[in-house]
Amino acid sequence: MNRLPVTVLGATGVVGQRFVRRLAQHPLFEIQHLAASDRSAGKRYAEACAWRLPAEDGEAYGGCGEHPLVSATVDEAFSPIVFSALDSGPASELEPQFAAKGALVFSNASAFRMAEDVPLLIPEVNPSHLALVEVQRTRRGWSGAILCNPNCTATVLAMALAPLQSAFGIEAVMMTSLQAVSGAGYPGVASLDILGNVVPFIRNEEEKVEEEIPKLLGSFVGQSIQPALLGISALCHRVPVVEGHTEAVSLKLRGNPSVDQVREVLATWRTEPQRLGLPSAPEVALRLHTAEDRPQVRRDVALDGGMSVHVGRIRPCPVLGIKFSLLGSNTERGAAGGSILNAELALSKLRVDADAASR
Ligand code: NAP
Repeated sequence: MNRLPVTVLGATGVVGQRFVRRLAQHPLFEIQHLAASDRSAGKRYAEACAWRLPAEDGEAYGGCGEHPLVSATVDEAFSPIVFSALDSGPASELEPQFAAKGALVFSNASAFRMAEDVPLLIPEVNPSHLALVEVQRTRRGWSGAILCNPNCTATVLAMALAPLQSAFGIEAVMMTSLQAVSGAGYPGVASLDILGNVVPFIRNEEEKVEEEIPKLLGSFVGQSIQPALLGISALCHRVPVVEGHTEAVSLKLRGNPSVDQVREVLATWRTEPQRLGLPSAPEVALRLHTAEDRPQVRRDVALDGGMSVHVGRIRPCPVLGIKFSLLGSNTERGAAGGSILNAELALSKLRVDADAASR
């Protein structure tokens, strides 16, 4: 099968580099354009990009060091599939232009996540929300569409909440995060602010988690998503960790199930990407840990290429009923890998206009 040409917008950034590494080896997609800001356009990828992935993640620059960078415009960077690792400002202006011209745009930015006709997608959690693409195309008159992945902290949390929501129903969630510095992009948080420190503030992060979780766990009814009705409070902290968000979760489930019942539901969760055999799907979406001191960032976050979410220390909570610890990769499951998995799911279900560029 011919691989579909794809564009990476924001290819030089923290998330963009992860995209390039994954796409350089991908069985369905082939990099056509790498785009970044006008500061970088016209340079070779290796010239403009300070590659920061570890050597064990493969060849530097994903082997694309000689690839020319173009500016992130439809005229220079159009492909039928576009992966966007842009910040929200440029994303809000540029992503609709690609979608209007016929591209499926898989966005990591927050600009369109809460738009009524834009799917906020995690293939394991809410594959039925893909149906919003047709609503969006009709409403906006586009042959393409924008599909978003959630905030990285919300992604990790939603992966553990989804099976519990469908098995029992969730009444309330308290989540306290310990988030890696790579979540702030590069150069991110100044080293003098984060080394030996914990910063109890990440701008807009708590709000994003609190608004995105009800949409993620909601149901597609008629032409829109009916958000899940649950109480949720997020407390977010930046910690001196390079990669991987840890989350401490307490929750109240309907019917007050036991720890064993909760463990059974999480351990037996089987989901669509694994059933469809999507290339970026991990063997299991949730990895359950039984050791009393796991999951840990250094030991667990890179397993399964960063695509599984880790759950451990499932135990009774004296206040809400159940509590546990979660860990997930912010740049892979929470960004590039999650977006590519969204594209693989979309490709298995939707029409892609591979000829749009020539019109
Ligand atoms: P980053 O490291 O700061 O990279 C930003 C990228 O956007 C760079 O390639 C930059 O190119 C490009 N860019 C900046 N301004 C531009 C403009 N006006 N036009 C075109 N390109 C422009 O940021 P990041 O951490 O990769 O995050 C990218 C997006 O993913 C953000 O929306 C972020 O919220 C989201 N996200 C990040 C994470 C994470 O863990 N980091 C997780 C989930 C979602 P130059 O090199 O030329 O400046």
